[in-house]
Amino acid sequence: MSLIRKTAAELGAMIAAGDVSAVEVAEAHLDRMAEVEPKVKAFLHVDREVTLEQARAVDARLRAGEKLGPLAGVPIAHKDIFSTHDMPTTAASKILEGWRPPYDATVTKRLREAGLVFLGKTNLDEFAMGSSTENSAYHPTHNPWDLTKVPGGSSGGSSAAVAAYEAPLSTGTDTGGSIRQPAAVTGIVGMKPTYGGSSRYGIIAFASSLDTPGPFARNVLDAALLHEAFSGHDPMDSTSVDAPVPSVVEAAKSPDIAGMRIGVVKEFSGEGYQAGVLARYNEVVKLLESLGATVVEVSCPSFTTALPAYYLIAPSECSSNLARFDAMRYGLRVGDDGTRSAEEVMALTRAAGFGPEVKRRIMLGTYALSSGYYDAYYGQAQKVRTLIARDFEAAYQQVDVLVSPTTPTTAFAIGERADDPMAMYLADLCTIPSNLAGNAAMSVPCGLADEDGLPVGLQIMAPVLADDRCYRVGAAVEKALESRWGGPLLKEAPSL
Ligand code: GLN
Repeated sequence: MSLIRKTAAELGAMIAAGDVSAVEVAEAHLDRMAEVEPKVKAFLHVDREVTLEQARAVDARLRAGEKLGPLAGVPIAHKDIFSTHDMPTTAASKILEGWRPPYDATVTKRLREAGLVFLGKTNLDEFAMGSSTENSAYHPTHNPWDLTKVPGGSSGGSSAAVAAYEAPLSTGTDTGGSIRQPAAVTGIVGMKPTYGGSSRYGIIAFASSLDTPGPFARNVLDAALLHEAFSGHDPMDSTSVDAPVPSVVEAAKSPDIAGMRIGVVKEFSGEGYQAGVLARYNEVVKLLESLGATVVEVSCPSFTTALPAYYLIAPSECSSNLARFDAMRYGLRVGDDGTRSAEEVMALTRAAGFGPEVKRRIMLGTYALSSGYYDAYYGQAQKVRTLIARDFEAAYQQVDVLVSPTTPTTAFAIGERADDPMAMYLADLCTIPSNLAGNAAMSVPCGLADEDGLPVGLQIMAPVLADDRCYRVGAAVEKALESRWGGPLLKEAPSL
């Protein structure tokens, strides 16, 4: 089997045993990228030499007998929102075009130390605002399952790269669903860890009380290995949780859910959901029951108010975070010809440098935070957030995990929702509550919809710092479905 078809765990073991070098593995993936990138366009930045240099350095460390983790030498792609000192970091915005951070994010730093080899930076919706990757200031990314469809968003470059076998692993960030939704619509595994369980340091901020970095992989164990490699307390992030990382690798290796109590969220199915999504979802719920879990229906009435609350909180935090792009400190500067004031240069730069969705969010957020409206909008949304956390708490009195479809529909067509922000926002209906409550949540593939043959994701939600439960249930679903299909769901990205 060619190197690009191997799992990250297999590649790590082969490299550790000296059966293959990190350079050979990197070259195989760079060749795959050269072959499929013209169609998929998952990456914003690739530099073969920088990647091979990293791979050579890892081979040298291994030869010198350095003890590195299980993913040493394994290639990875990073969402272009993680700072990398040797590659540009743009958040897919014109305002940061060509910007090179002087330092690494904690996530990228830890992965470098663990010997992972960086293949490049992947496309996203500008500043991670969107659900389709069409809001990138550079180009859209195409879904490897059907090149006319979106790969989800905002981490759509990262999901497409893994689904297209360009990378065995990638990183993403999830503020309202941006790991789980793209994972679902490209047929891969995506995990949003507990908020604060993985460091935000060096990640370009969108909504700081929600932003969470997490892993993408083609199987649950690989996602767990990556999760463990970059998570854990970081003094550089004031909201980092000072607690041990949940044992996610162990959980991914123990797909036994007999006796587990699984809650089906009543509010997340039925009207507005694609028939093929519901069909696969209902089947997988039965499957969980057949594996010995007790399945009960759970009502979380406040979840229906999560979407409007999110679209007040996230833009409010975004309007404050994006104030730092002032034409003085980073990236683009427009109209600085010696005749204009700093304010004029700032206004011209922001007008030219931000795309329409980012401007919409900044305006919405500025309005929601303005005096006189603050209590009615932002204050009210924060109260809804409390209600959602209480719904979760009540549910977790009865069950160990909650499940729902990850998204109401499979991948939609490029262009289909681009001019309809409300339709776009609905892609995150099921994923947002976990962000508002800071809980752990995963998307794992659960089949293909009959009407379009596109992947469907099962969302598994667990309490704060119980990330391991997502992996245990995810691994059980993966194992049961693999034996039914006679192999992994994603054998081949069909359109490539
Ligand atoms: N799609 C949502 C938004 O546009 C979520 C984005 C994210 O999680 N980064 O805000």
